[in-house]
Amino acid sequence: MLNVEVLGGVGEYGRNCFYIEVDGQAILLDCGIMKNAQKTPPKLTAAHVEKLVAVFISHSHIDHVGALPIAERLGYAGPIVMSEMTQCQLKQCYRNTHIFYEDSIGEWVPINDYLAFKWGYSGHVIGSVWYQIRFIDKMIFYSGDYVVDTYVLQATLPQDNVIYDIALIDSGHVEKHVDNQAVLQQIAQFVQTYPQQPIIFPSSFSGKTLDIATYLFKHTARPIYVEQQLQALFQQYIAVGQNMKSEKAISTPFWIPMEDVEDGLYFIAEQSDIYYPQAITVYTGYLKKEDTYPHFFYKTHPDYEDIVKLSKQICAKQVIYFHSTFPVQLEGYSESRK
Ligand SMILES: [Zn+2]
Ligand SMILES: [Zn+2]
Repeated sequence: MLNVEVLGGVGEYGRNCFYIEVDGQAILLDCGIMKNAQKTPPKLTAAHVEKLVAVFISHSHIDHVGALPIAERLGYAGPIVMSEMTQCQLKQCYRNTHIFYEDSIGEWVPINDYLAFKWGYSGHVIGSVWYQIRFIDKMIFYSGDYVVDTYVLQATLPQDNVIYDIALIDSGHVEKHVDNQAVLQQIAQFVQTYPQQPIIFPSSFSGKTLDIATYLFKHTARPIYVEQQLQALFQQYIAVGQNMKSEKAISTPFWIPMEDVEDGLYFIAEQSDIYYPQAITVYTGYLKKEDTYPHFFYKTHPDYEDIVKLSKQICAKQVIYFHSTFPVQLEGYSESRK
């Protein structure tokens, strides 16, 4: 018997945590907290943890890993499965991490006699993955946070024609219709309109930041500066192999130490207090209503068209869409296809 409990992440943006129980044994897909002041945890209890045999982590963002200390406090000591790069990015260590490496891509990786997984890249950040999970007699697909049209990172999907018992699909930008390639072109045009002014991009630790920086490096002559807090992202970018689209990737560093110059393009962490009064700030994510900054929305999750595409490619008896406050209503599809 399959029992799925959403412990967070459906109808909200954050605390992604999905509990899947089959015949009295359970797994957890991600274990995140809300990115709010209260850091709202998922609805994970000791009763859930008691049945857990594995926790699968899709990537290192706080809305996917922030509640791992809570799982440990509730007594969880089993394997915490994640990619090598995800482990590198975590701020703290966990007791029993089960790391997989690039060479296992596309292969069944066993956890025990009745639990095994395949993985592939999801394009959202370096080391972010989707999982195909075989759990007793059930097949599960978990997209993690997924970006369909990335510029530098690879995003793949399982190649076998499996009918999943359940699929969990990222619907983070379901209310949007965005062509990432066109947005990159618009940003480059905007930058060229202001040749003599520094431009700041408030940026997150994500594939989006790599996409925009790489595109501007290749399509403008402006020097690119990366703030200390984001240096690790760019260093990993050079270090990883397979996770990049080979035709787009950069093999040598193209960013320079911070310096206040007139024609610089600055990639600055979102909460950073570095501030150039003379600079233009360009936002590429969600804006608050009152904000009037130059704005070019770039996807870090699937938009409506991407969700339609993913829902066709992943054949499942039941689908749970997560990572959005908006419901998913696809034409020709119902939310749950039992
Ligand atoms: Zn994320
Ligand atoms: Zn997320």
